[in-house]
Amino acid sequence: MNPGIIPRNESIPQELEQQMDLRGVPRHRFLKISEITIKQFCATCNIFRPPRSKHCSFCDNCILRFDHHCTWLGNCVGLYNYRYFVVLIYSSTIFLMQCLYVTVCHFGQEADDTFGPDYGFLDVLWVLSEDTSTVFFFLYCLFLMFAVLLLAVYHTVISLQNLTTNEHVKNYYREGQNPFDYGGLKNCQQIYCFPENLVCRSMIQHDPTC
Ligand SMILES: [Zn+2]
Ligand SMILES: [Zn+2]
Repeated sequence: MNPGIIPRNESIPQELEQQMDLRGVPRHRFLKISEITIKQFCATCNIFRPPRSKHCSFCDNCILRFDHHCTWLGNCVGLYNYRYFVVLIYSSTIFLMQCLYVTVCHFGQEADDTFGPDYGFLDVLWVLSEDTSTVFFFLYCLFLMFAVLLLAVYHTVISLQNLTTNEHVKNYYREGQNPFDYGGLKNCQQIYCFPENLVCRSMIQHDPTC
């Protein structure tokens, strides 16, 4: 779904033409939020994008509250679809755990059918050697489960801090300096219940030094 594509201008808006520098881009194109200077003007989309947005080079669009471009889904993850992305990784984790559980039960059942209810460890190994394709399926699920579980934990932690993957990876804000951090509960409420409510704790101002 639409991750939050910001409509672009075909050319630089006329009202900005008086305020160009020698390179032909608007002079006031940086914002300072809580001591962090961010580039606000996108020269590709010809727009001043809101804070936390970023131009995705894969999608060639500016995305609201850009999280990351997911190559597995072939789509950006941003303001409008972040919560669905998190639901996807959580449900994948649960699904893969179920797969592992069912596979273990299947091996147990096979051993029980072959050796009776008092089967031992070596009997299970014999069952595994007889059913290598299911063993590969088990290992495949195990690997994927740990990968998505790690991703789920990671997104839970950054959601509690109201950080995007982009902000976290680039270490945008120093410790305790994130202007969007309202505390764990309110952060989750904003991200998962009211994502359109992009609010900021501190004053946003143009950075005259840039
Ligand atoms: Zn852009
Ligand atoms: Zn993208």
